[in-house]
Amino acid sequence: ELLLDIKDLHASIDGKEILKGINLQVHPGEVHAIMGPNGSGKSTLSMVLAGAPGYEVTGGSVDFHGKQLLDLSAEDRSHEGLFLSFQYPVEIPGVTMVNFMRAAVNEKRKYFNEPALSASDFLKLMRQKRAIVELDNKLASRSVNEGFSGGEKKRNEIFQMAMLEPRLAILDETDSGLDIDALRIVAGGVNTLKTDRNATIVITHYQRLLDYIKPDFVHVLYKGRIIRTGGPELALELEERGYDWLKEEVDAQ
Ligand code: ADP
Ligand code: MG
Ligand code: MG
Repeated sequence: ELLLDIKDLHASIDGKEILKGINLQVHPGEVHAIMGPNGSGKSTLSMVLAGAPGYEVTGGSVDFHGKQLLDLSAEDRSHEGLFLSFQYPVEIPGVTMVNFMRAAVNEKRKYFNEPALSASDFLKLMRQKRAIVELDNKLASRSVNEGFSGGEKKRNEIFQMAMLEPRLAILDETDSGLDIDALRIVAGGVNTLKTDRNATIVITHYQRLLDYIKPDFVHVLYKGRIIRTGGPELALELEERGYDWLKEEVDAQ
């Protein structure tokens, strides 16, 4: 069965059409990579899926395991199992990671009419998930992201993902240069948390990340459309040849 089914999705920012008919199908257990030149609409796609304000959907549909995703609030999308790497505030002074995650986990449980976790069960869960991402206990008791290094923020993000156990994680690895350490953390988290029930979409400008996360499918987004889909070999071809040959095919039309 399909986990995510995006059909002819159109979206605008300030009346300007950015997504011009996206079609994408994701099954449980799959890893998809979305690549493409800067300004193609990769981040816009993730923002639209997240339900971020300021993005107007002008056409199409998104089915998420049987629910119409676009009809849900941003919060309910998250409760339904959609995780976006940038969804959580960058820094929250005065709120420790522990308390932040406790609230997030218990809100989700409430959505499904489950009782809040006891303090000891929550700590047990934290310990278990922390081990997966090798997150230091000290980091967990500090304010969310405050003074975290780039690598610590990444680790924290993957930790949040591990805690929330999403059905679909969308990791928008923006063009801010990820160092090798951060790449390793992201990839290690994705690979460890992979099951045959969940799926991941990795958005990246660079082929490099795909040395660590092996995608089942690679899509190229350009001018608001997916212009090419292939296997992992497509990413290698793009690394070698760049995007110009694909752009030319599209621009000539
Ligand atoms: P990518 O992630 O592929 O680099 P984006 O989704 O960030 O691309 O941007 C796609 C297009 O939308 C670009 O032309 C960009 O200038 C425009 N855009 C993105 N965000 C905004 C915004 N907040 N306001 C106006 N235009 C935007
Ligand atoms: Mg960009
Ligand atoms: Mg982007």
